Amino acid sequence: MPYDPISKPHLSSYKVQPNLPDWDTARKSHSWWDIYKELDWLPGGGLNNAYNAVDRHVVKGFGDKLAMIWAGKNGEEERYTFREFMEHSGKFANALSSLGLKRGDRVFIFLDRLPENYFVSMGTLKAGGVIGPLFSAFGPDPVRDRLQDSGATILITTPDLRKKIAAILPGCPALKHIIIINKNGRSKEPLAGGDLSYEALMAKAPADFKCVPTSQYDYAIMHYTSGTTGKPKGAVHRHQAVIQQYITGKWCLDLRKEDIYWCTADPGWVTGTSYGMMAPWTNGVTQVIYEGGFGANGWYDIIDKYKVTVWYTAPTAVRMLMRAGEAPVKSHKLDTLRFIASVGEPLNPEAVVWGNRMFKQAIHDNWWQTETGAIMCANYASMEVRPGSMGRPIPGVEMGIVDDNFDPLPPGKPGLLVVRPGWPAMFHTYWNRDEMYNSRFKKGWYITGDTAHMDSDGYFWFQGRADDVINTAGHLVGPFEVESALIEHPAVAEAGVIGKPDPIAMEVVKAFVSLKPGFEPTEQLRRELIQFARQKLSAAVAPREIDFLASLPKTRSGKIMRRLLKARELGLPEGDTSTLEDD
Ligand code: AMP
Repeated sequence: MPYDPISKPHLSSYKVQPNLPDWDTARKSHSWWDIYKELDWLPGGGLNNAYNAVDRHVVKGFGDKLAMIWAGKNGEEERYTFREFMEHSGKFANALSSLGLKRGDRVFIFLDRLPENYFVSMGTLKAGGVIGPLFSAFGPDPVRDRLQDSGATILITTPDLRKKIAAILPGCPALKHIIIINKNGRSKEPLAGGDLSYEALMAKAPADFKCVPTSQYDYAIMHYTSGTTGKPKGAVHRHQAVIQQYITGKWCLDLRKEDIYWCTADPGWVTGTSYGMMAPWTNGVTQVIYEGGFGANGWYDIIDKYKVTVWYTAPTAVRMLMRAGEAPVKSHKLDTLRFIASVGEPLNPEAVVWGNRMFKQAIHDNWWQTETGAIMCANYASMEVRPGSMGRPIPGVEMGIVDDNFDPLPPGKPGLLVVRPGWPAMFHTYWNRDEMYNSRFKKGWYITGDTAHMDSDGYFWFQGRADDVINTAGHLVGPFEVESALIEHPAVAEAGVIGKPDPIAMEVVKAFVSLKPGFEPTEQLRRELIQFARQKLSAAVAPREIDFLASLPKTRSGKIMRRLLKARELGLPEGDTSTLEDD
């Protein structure tokens, strides 16, 4: 191991013991049922995640506690107590009911990090709907694919974002209502014909709403995630996922009632809902929501200004902070920070060591994915951190490493990372794609799509993806999605897309393109193609680099060999090319 473990002398100065003091004992005595009892069930035995995140704190007498501090991108600030949160989400739940929302209807949310994003999310869940969060940087194509696939009947967005996707809306016939949020009158645009005003709906809706008696098995949230082939698929989670989100908030983020918590993930991705909504609020914690983008000084300002104690972020952000250097750290106090964690991509050991130097504490990496719905494996407050490792599985979860036949491998041997099915936050299907869902389970394991190894102490070490999926700045990108967008350009004959290693974003999207006869591979065309893909997809998903090739390497059956494109790009051995088509 290249780096020494971080043994955490600071643990001895903890005033209160960490939430998971002894991992081994916790594993042995673990019972999900005991944890279920810490949540509040609805009369009649139902379970609702939003009720547990919001309303129950009011019922228990903590209505005046601050739930959310919103720092707007233009310097605005808004604060909401749990009672106000309950009322706003209750109003929206009433508004949805008056629009005829039925249990299980999909409500898609295409919004920036506004307080209203959280009101409508919780309101929809309380009303029995299923939320589909959409990353607000998406262009029209990903939004269209998700609306069409899910059959969403309601879309909630802002005037600007609506304008961006206007062209795809007629192609989404299931949509019955578009609700427009015009935050603080930011937009002067008139409402498009047929659209509904959020502000008008809220003005006439009563605040009192009795939560729909969802069961723990009702669908609650769907997040689209990319695979190697085909369009992104909707991983569907049930209300019961909240139990694991709640307890991992305690175990893995060490959340306590007095904390001020900041999760930098966008609510359009799973971290932004599981840990930007459910985990902190079910734990009754005050959460800072920052609408602005990344900037080292801006981020440290947020920590100092709001006295953030627990901070959950991503490795790309940590690497960007490292690049910004020590000066911004030195010009801030950052002395309220008590626990830092990260997720989404490998956190390189240098980053853990750097964090330890800068913030006087380790950054705790943990591992999970859209399908797992909650943290599965973590470096805990109570244990030494092994820089570069994603830690050990949470109590109640069994993880393993298997070979290509899905048979277990001993410690130290790299292989496929797998999980024993049955954890509470496990996805229940891919929307309308049961076959694909079933294909993820082999020999009693769920196959995560990652490769890793486990050391003899049970710490897991990430190695890579077992498929062609690209991880850029913590966002999974399916190469097929990018290729499909590129070939819609009139000059493009074929496209092959790979992840190219990058020191900050881990990987960047790189495309190889062959052109139709009559088109020349010019610098101008390269720029035009990048722009074309950005507009259709989003800057986060579009290729950063494009190379022109006379033709792309393909198998005899005509499939583009991305593996070969990648090997050639990186100057690596080309491996087995026996299926390569002759030129
Ligand atoms: P997503 O489903 O978009 O949340 O992405 C999940 C994927 O991100 C995982 O399957 C991994 O490939 C990667 N990932 C998440 N957390 C980690 C981590 N701590 N270390 C390495 N890779 C991670």
